[in-house]
Amino acid sequence: MNRDKSEALFKKATNLIPAGVNSPVRAFKSVNDSPFYVKKAKGAYLYDVDGNEYLDYVSSWGAIILGHADRGLVGAIKKAVEDGTSYGACHPAEIEIAQLIVDAFPSIELLRLTSSGTEATMSAIRLARGFTGKRGIIKFRGCYHGHVDSLLVKAGSGLATFGTPDSDGVPEDLAKHTYVAEFNHIETVKNIIQEHKDIACLIIEPIMGNMGVILPEEKFLNYVQELCQQSGILLICDEVITGFRVTYGGAQHVYGIDPDITCLGKIIGGGFAIGAFGGKRKIMQALAPLGNTYQAGTLSGNPIAVRAGIYTLQYLRDHRDMYDQMRQHIEMAKDSILRIATKHGVPYRINSTTGMFTGFFSDRDVTDYESAATCDKKAYESFFKHMLAEGIFFAPSQFEASIVTMCHKEREISKTIDSYEKVFRAMGSSS
Ligand SMILES: *Cc1c(COP(=O)(O)O)cnc(C)c1O
Repeated sequence: MNRDKSEALFKKATNLIPAGVNSPVRAFKSVNDSPFYVKKAKGAYLYDVDGNEYLDYVSSWGAIILGHADRGLVGAIKKAVEDGTSYGACHPAEIEIAQLIVDAFPSIELLRLTSSGTEATMSAIRLARGFTGKRGIIKFRGCYHGHVDSLLVKAGSGLATFGTPDSDGVPEDLAKHTYVAEFNHIETVKNIIQEHKDIACLIIEPIMGNMGVILPEEKFLNYVQELCQQSGILLICDEVITGFRVTYGGAQHVYGIDPDITCLGKIIGGGFAIGAFGGKRKIMQALAPLGNTYQAGTLSGNPIAVRAGIYTLQYLRDHRDMYDQMRQHIEMAKDSILRIATKHGVPYRINSTTGMFTGFFSDRDVTDYESAATCDKKAYESFFKHMLAEGIFFAPSQFEASIVTMCHKEREISKTIDSYEKVFRAMGSSS
């Protein structure tokens, strides 16, 4: 596969943009490779500047669900653009998308739109602190909620339950208010709550997507909700990925939980910059100008993003069978891939839910941060490069979800399975 033009562009880019990229994982650094440059995208495929075609399992990190350049969506966007690109004033479509979201999520009574998922989680946390008058936050190791200062925090050393910065530039004074618990280990949440009385909120990806896909164990989320309720801690469900992906109504619908605040993003903008946070009326009313918790945005509720979102959500609402199809396609792939792995002696585990899955290079089940973190990253690097050469684009990191859209159909699944056969045969014999 020739990637000369991409390599030349990447070289140019590194002179102008740090590491050549506008978001770190795009640099392919963790798989020791350099990125291809996309010329266009259609359906389940990306096409690069060198004329290569890739079956896309990144799907804009979950923002795409109808498939790239969906004809109906593109039509809706073209119409929206004709009416102007931004107003900074009220317009009817923002009511329409709010209604769609409220109808899909019974836990959301009022909501605000933002321009990214990061803004949504950042605002949700400020709101929780403003509403409760408390400072502490509980997050789970391995969950990602955007690049918010208070959430770029890792567990402290030893027995300490308070966090330390996971990035330069995050003050320790801020990080120490974030307590880090372990996903699927309820006792870690209990311990933090027992030890600290100043906790405003607990934020969680109800299905982990940013450590690879990790499902919550039976009743885990219900116990988390119970603990929060007993202690007056607001439960924030970060459904930026899962929102309209695992079903219409998100993971909270699947697991029967009723969060105080929900964060959305990705899918709800149809590929445009967007985010949203919403929840109980009483809490949301603490936002300015009703209350004293400030939050704002020049492009919040941008008319093009909103109309792209409305088209996407209406399509999903009216074609719920697509969720069953996405689930069946993943199940089909999963069974075959696991058989292929066994045949070639490649230690491999697949975690999946509707619309996303992760294959882990591991000989044990992946159920928490620890079991994910110990998988074979070298094997993943080899897998990534082999797959790219086969014309399949998986995320350039082991710890990501592979994202399926409505355009990943039988043909794409067959191609994926065939490529696994080739790649695992090569990997199995080389190890
Ligand atoms: C992507 C993501 C975010 C951040 O959204 P951005 O639009 O990238 O700022 C937050 N939470 C989760 C769970 C995400 O996957």
